Amino acid sequence: MSEEKFYFQSEAAELLKMMISSVYSNKDIFLRELISNASDALDKRRIECLKDTELAENTDPKIIITADTDKKTLSVSDNGIGMNKDELVKYLGTIAKSGTKEFLKAAKNDSTHNELIGQFGVGFYSVFMVADKVEVLSRRLGTAETYRFTSDGEGSYTIADAEQRDECGTTVTLYLRQNDDSDAKNYSDEWTIRGIIEKYSDFISWPIVFKDKTINTQKAIWQRPDSEITEDEYKEFYKHLTHDWKEPLMHIKINAEGSTNFKGLLFIPSEAPFDLFMNPESGGISLYINRVFIMNDCKDLIAQYMRFVRGVVDSEDLPLNISREILQDEPIIRVIRRSTQRKIFAELKKLLADDREKYIRFWTAFGRVFKEGIIQDREHAKNILELALFRTTANDEWTTLAEYESRMKPGQEGIYCLAGRDNLSALKASPKLEPFMSKGYEVLLMTDPVDEVILAQASFILPAEAKKFLNVASDDVTPYTDDEKKENDEKAKALEADFEPLKKIALEVFPEKLETVRPSFTLGNSPACLRDTLGGVSLQIENMMRAAGQFVPEQKRILELNAEHPVIQKLITMAKDNDGKVKDMVKVLYDQSLILEGASPENPAEFVKLIDDLMTLALVD
Ligand code: ADP
Repeated sequence: MSEEKFYFQSEAAELLKMMISSVYSNKDIFLRELISNASDALDKRRIECLKDTELAENTDPKIIITADTDKKTLSVSDNGIGMNKDELVKYLGTIAKSGTKEFLKAAKNDSTHNELIGQFGVGFYSVFMVADKVEVLSRRLGTAETYRFTSDGEGSYTIADAEQRDECGTTVTLYLRQNDDSDAKNYSDEWTIRGIIEKYSDFISWPIVFKDKTINTQKAIWQRPDSEITEDEYKEFYKHLTHDWKEPLMHIKINAEGSTNFKGLLFIPSEAPFDLFMNPESGGISLYINRVFIMNDCKDLIAQYMRFVRGVVDSEDLPLNISREILQDEPIIRVIRRSTQRKIFAELKKLLADDREKYIRFWTAFGRVFKEGIIQDREHAKNILELALFRTTANDEWTTLAEYESRMKPGQEGIYCLAGRDNLSALKASPKLEPFMSKGYEVLLMTDPVDEVILAQASFILPAEAKKFLNVASDDVTPYTDDEKKENDEKAKALEADFEPLKKIALEVFPEKLETVRPSFTLGNSPACLRDTLGGVSLQIENMMRAAGQFVPEQKRILELNAEHPVIQKLITMAKDNDGKVKDMVKVLYDQSLILEGASPENPAEFVKLIDDLMTLALVD
């Protein structure tokens, strides 16, 4: 094969452009990325050889670094799994990472990209921060051909046949940029290279050889005593493990001894990756058996709602030939899973008590995912609720349930809450809060989609002695005493005859949507409000289920009209006179109530037209 030219997938090309122009200050990390890839390739080779006995075990696995100061080149070479031609195209010419599109979109709005580069982790492409040309020579394990991939990062690359490598593996050679900037580091300089490897790659479990000497200690960080390890070492290990350029929020060490022995080093990232919510598979824990890497993203080691936790678990008690398929039924794995879970709960509890600011960062990033556990894991629902933070009508801070309970008014029956749209300020404007606020009650504001489900199921999930969640949107939850309720009922009764014509018109306009229409004396400044019927499904859940493709029968709701509001009072009179305009007004009120529920008007064009007509009426003679 002569040389063949390829174009980078458009997203990859965009990312490359970003790298070439990057002003990211820590360019050193390109070498960490290359060594990390080499180390992964050696892991993969070892595992493939275990599975396929035809392939010879690698007897001398290592990573070799070479540099030439005169030619300004730097190479990272491994005798790992290597790549064939298709794999070079697939792995280096495209980006398979989920969340790439989102990343690029976000990066367009941030001219420096640096913070974002940190969140995304661009891996191999980071070489273009320091090199103007890159050559990759690779031979796949089990094949005879060697290919040369060459690129200057400017949109295209070439792949050609190359002279056969003695052994499978990959050599990445960087032609370093000639830099006019005298402060810029010389990445072909021996001490610069040593410094970077010592700082970032010391714990890599394969030897890193430079100038014929192994320069990393290869000590598994989770096997070393805590007192020996610096914060920096933890951070670098985390970055190697996760390919996240950001520092982790915290690390958690586990040292379990007893009937099952294992060590663990877990991390909570400081920010949610782009795809955490879309892709429940992201994240993960790597499994090691007696310091030997077995697999990454071992889902059986961690509960799904803790999928943001990253790290390593290492046990001596598991058989080396364990496979993903049987992991789930392995009692030791179950023991490990339970104890990591316990430890994570305990550490989060400590963090909540000791460092509120940091805890809030955790909660902002991962609270939505963590809360899924309330539904998934009944056994620990109480633990999770104790760790949950909520928004509240009392102030602009986050609050725990315990803090809310300490502020409850004497005799208050339970925890008042309102769940809804993901927009906090919209939720705060809900007319449903009015009666509670005016009576001095605090209401928790729940803005995550999962909150609706938690509220709906709380009574089955929570232990009997726990304080009840009272959904203020529900028709049977009111802040009023029996006497006050009676008084409101009497007011409604007195109004019944006058209200009837308006009710009739509204029910004629929305026969499918409304169960009933009734006057209310508790809505404060809002003219109208939609309420779910007892046992009915809320608008949010209805929309969520529809979006998920599930069938939901059309739900009828209750339209409450504020009998103390001048607009409603006027409409009551107009309806009695059979005024044709009442219908349109009722439509506007209904759509307004939908908007306050976080939904859209039934027919936006008609809604806009009605508002236009009203403005014309008000403003134009
Ligand atoms: P990441 O390592 O985060 O997946 P990279 O851009 O660094 O992203 O690498 C992309 C892919 O290219 C890797 O997942 C791997 O499959 C392949 N690759 C990179 N370097 C090597 C190497 N030295 N040996 C074998 N495969 C490699």
